[in-house]
Amino acid sequence: MHFKKRVLVTGGAGFIGSHLCEALLRRGCEVLCLDNFLTGSRRNIAHLLDDPYFELLYHDVTRPLSLEVQEVYNLACAATPDAYRLTPVTTVSTCLLGAMNMLNLARDAGAKILQASTSEVYGDARVHPQGEDYWGHVNPIGPRACYDEGKRCAETLFFDYHRQHDVRIKVARIFNTYGPRMHPEDGRVVAGMVLQALRGEPLTIPGEGTQTRSFCYVDDMVEGLVALMESPDGFTGPVNLGNPAELQVGELARVVLSQIGSASEITCAPLPEDDPRQRRPDISLAREALDWSPQIPLQKGLRKTIDYFQEIVHELRKNDRRKQVREKGSDFPKVVGEP
Ligand code: NAD
Repeated sequence: MHFKKRVLVTGGAGFIGSHLCEALLRRGCEVLCLDNFLTGSRRNIAHLLDDPYFELLYHDVTRPLSLEVQEVYNLACAATPDAYRLTPVTTVSTCLLGAMNMLNLARDAGAKILQASTSEVYGDARVHPQGEDYWGHVNPIGPRACYDEGKRCAETLFFDYHRQHDVRIKVARIFNTYGPRMHPEDGRVVAGMVLQALRGEPLTIPGEGTQTRSFCYVDDMVEGLVALMESPDGFTGPVNLGNPAELQVGELARVVLSQIGSASEITCAPLPEDDPRQRRPDISLAREALDWSPQIPLQKGLRKTIDYFQEIVHELRKNDRRKQVREKGSDFPKVVGEP
């Protein structure tokens, strides 16, 4: 009898996690998707619920858990400044207690565990592009520290469990990723711009839009995460995963407008505190150790993202109409006898 590999994906109902669950199911794994729905959504995984090899587990990673699994992808964490600034203490505890609980689970089950770390561990970097040997430039008490320092300390925990308990670890430093199922309103730059353009609103860009970002399409990211998990045990990372194609935020706004065919204007908003000026991964290590590099060009990834958000805008409009009817009262006469 052939046994499927059992894989736990924490944060599996989120943006990257839901694509990862799909990819693992396609690869013949049994997938346990764990989420507390803080920023994720049932909509992201609704199409997987009928798959006999997919299971949804409502759980918070800040609480201990014991499971028999062979691999753990630890993605659970609010991932955008708008989301984690609202709940900074929750963010720190998810980073730390979440990492510790999932490391204990992996240690007890003898499983391999991958941590979704972030380019934010480099902070407002003084080195460009950022290689894995750069230790970062992070403000430990600023409003983004709950995430940046939380993720840095989670990396520490991963390496300490590896050294002290021989846990087989993999650490991915994820750079800006975009695609369908990003939360529409949590401040992600691509989602925000696409939504504004589709609604015919002005596109707001922080500062003068000269800060740079590099955007990796979600399918490429998932390929990278799986390649890292499947890499030989001796390879722990940290390894940068992202798209080295760098562009200014203002340039991104112009590409979005031209792909949508929108005439919206571009306006400037105040630059958020501690906003990094430049962000581009050096992915030499991922190329060499994982034979991985992003394959999907921005134009193609944006097309798929725009198609997804077109559906979302349509749904939001329908919901707005329903809400208006509820607020104004129905056009239909009341049922006889109804107060
Ligand atoms: P997301 O917010 O869409 O997904 C995170 C998921 O984790 C959500 O479903 C949320 O409900 C869940 N979650 C949060 N706290 C939890 C808790 N305490 N217990 C259980 N579930 C919890 O974000 P994403 O973009 O899919 O990010 C996934 C991971 O990748 C995160 O760890 C993030 O830090 C990392 N990352 C993402 C990016 C990016 O550009 N998207 C960049 C760097 C790092």
